[in-house]
Amino acid sequence: MARDPKHDILFEPIPIGPKILKNRFYQVPHCIGAGSDKPGFQAAHRSIKAEGGWGGVNTEYLSIHPESDDTHRLSARLWDEGDVRNLRAMTDAVHAHDALCGVEMWYGGSHAPNMESRCTPRGPSQYASEFETMTYCKEMDLDDINMVQGYYVDAAKRARDAGFDIVYVYGAHSYLPLQFLSPYYNKRTDGYGGSLANRARFWIETLEKVKRAVGDECAIATRFAVDTLIADAGVEVERDALDFVRMADDYVDVWDVNVGDIAEWGEDAGPSRFYRQGHQLPWQRFIKQVSKKPVLGVGRFTDPEKMAEVIRSGQLDIIGAARPSIADPFLPEKINQGRADDIRTCIGCNVCISRWEIGGPPMICTQNPTAGEEYRRGWHPEKFPKAGSDDSFLVVGAGPAGSECARVLMERGYTVHLVDDQDKIGGSTNSIATLPGLGEWGYHRDYREVQLNKLLKKNKESQVALGAKKLSVDDCLEYGADKVIIATGAHWNTDGTNALTHDPVEGIDTNTPTHLTPEQVLDGSKPIGNKVLILNCDPYYMAPSLAQKLQEAGHKVTIATGVGLGHYMHFTLEAPNMHRMMHELGIEVVGDVWASKAEANRIQLYPIFGDGYRREYRGPGKLPRRENTHFDWHEFDSLVVVTGRSSDNELFTGLKARKDEWAANDIKGVYLIGDAWAPKLMADATFDGQRIAREIELEDPQHPKPYRREVAVWGSPYLPGDKFEIEYDI
Ligand code: SF4
Repeated sequence: MARDPKHDILFEPIPIGPKILKNRFYQVPHCIGAGSDKPGFQAAHRSIKAEGGWGGVNTEYLSIHPESDDTHRLSARLWDEGDVRNLRAMTDAVHAHDALCGVEMWYGGSHAPNMESRCTPRGPSQYASEFETMTYCKEMDLDDINMVQGYYVDAAKRARDAGFDIVYVYGAHSYLPLQFLSPYYNKRTDGYGGSLANRARFWIETLEKVKRAVGDECAIATRFAVDTLIADAGVEVERDALDFVRMADDYVDVWDVNVGDIAEWGEDAGPSRFYRQGHQLPWQRFIKQVSKKPVLGVGRFTDPEKMAEVIRSGQLDIIGAARPSIADPFLPEKINQGRADDIRTCIGCNVCISRWEIGGPPMICTQNPTAGEEYRRGWHPEKFPKAGSDDSFLVVGAGPAGSECARVLMERGYTVHLVDDQDKIGGSTNSIATLPGLGEWGYHRDYREVQLNKLLKKNKESQVALGAKKLSVDDCLEYGADKVIIATGAHWNTDGTNALTHDPVEGIDTNTPTHLTPEQVLDGSKPIGNKVLILNCDPYYMAPSLAQKLQEAGHKVTIATGVGLGHYMHFTLEAPNMHRMMHELGIEVVGDVWASKAEANRIQLYPIFGDGYRREYRGPGKLPRRENTHFDWHEFDSLVVVTGRSSDNELFTGLKARKDEWAANDIKGVYLIGDAWAPKLMADATFDGQRIAREIELEDPQHPKPYRREVAVWGSPYLPGDKFEIEYDI
């Protein structure tokens, strides 16, 4: 198909310093857990985006010196020649697809914990990081300033030698240059503190030195939080940012602008729960009014109409993207080919970010299960190996795991029957997407629905049977498929079984009128009284989401929780605004409690640390602590039980129990994926579906085959080869 002429503006080249960006699609720096330590992962993940049409592709933040060491997280590094060599794999791989390659030079000040290097960080003034734990910096004197600026210059030269085209001086997210600029951090009284011109001096001098060192060969970028969202305590766009841009413009070839700080960087990487596409434009749009240089910015742009409109209206010159490029590395190429309906739209769940926040395991993506698997598993997001046999498949359950499994099997050319008793593809996603703020999570279902319908037109033997009767063990045995894949999902526990006691709570029974599961709240199958108590032992979104839904519907909600509230939402950057929302709505949270028993309209809670702090051996059957004696009854009209989930795996266990009948029914194998295997993140359920569909020819496809690891092996050369090579599993 031809490109829509309305989108032509997105494909116009634009000069940035000595380089030409071939189009307006630009993957901004974002973390993946590769750094300089996993050169294969780094090269493969970034180059797949270059192959998919992104004109510019960056590393994650890149430490310029051991004084800026982010261990327990994993940044890239340009500390020595070894790092140059490792990152050269990425620049070569990206250049092979005619894209520019950028690097984001980072010095964190107090926000760098330096747990590996044990260096003492430096900053504009001495302060304790509001982001890291127990990290202070040394206030820089003039020698320090000169020395740290030298680190930037040395790293810039190494970046040039590694083949990078774009070199950033990274000042967004409250890192060192912005720490000098912001009165929140900068309390100096010398020539680097006080007036805006003084506070801007460090950043501008650094840009000038870096430009002088590498500016003839590399474009100089700077990432700038134009408003730190704390009014005049920090940087404000109209008061500070516009004058700063005027002062620094001569030394910058491209401005990368956003908002927020590091402690709440979800204001930049806004989750869809709180922010829509383009949410930073009210701040970003100011910069083009004063800069003579190209301006780019992120805002989870996924819709080509919106992207073209943002450029046409003069708000930005270049569309920056992190998450949309992860969810669909081929987004630019699909727009170019007029295939916007094939875009795997980022759902804004921030599960990708959660992995960096946890501390450095490889990034995963809910929409794109091949993200992070390009090198170690050889997975290409758009290409699949041809079917290895004539086997036919019955996939039971069209949720995230089942629909992904069926899609990939059909892409490979297999005949697949996908069967579900729901009327729609999507499984649990269909109800989850009705929770407040989670509507965009429905894009996960939509992508698979569109792709399966397209595949059905090409693959006439395959079927998607929705609204079907629930299949029994006999039905599966007699179905006629060679292989059966069970993806029947999971359910919320009906008896209060939980992660704290691993037992039910006495008296909880959601088959009674006043006790409800989340499913019963969402399907409206039971009346809900005015006073609601949510008993929570789940670390993610369900309890706060149900509380919001019910409180906004006029109920009076209290959450009693034994595992904090939405703890995983700290990692997805949803937590700060979730807590603000709970406070604003007047939802009461009773923390560090668990339930000993429940009745129809009341529940007995106890403090989970109510037992004695001294431990001693007291004999068999005796707790080694003083027993808790503090119990409180709490009344409710309705109790919502968010205590844990269990797999719906009866069909699988029933089939396993009759394994001796498989051969007589020409069944070669029965497999279990997704929540039916074990309850998990939607991203991991989707991964299960893709993984088994790619590995189905293995002798034991139930269990993943080993993946390629990038590890140092004693006595062997560390690097796998002289140049980056990858053989995709296609
Ligand atoms: Fe988007 Fe979620 Fe994938 Fe991140 S994990 S890229 S937010 S779909």
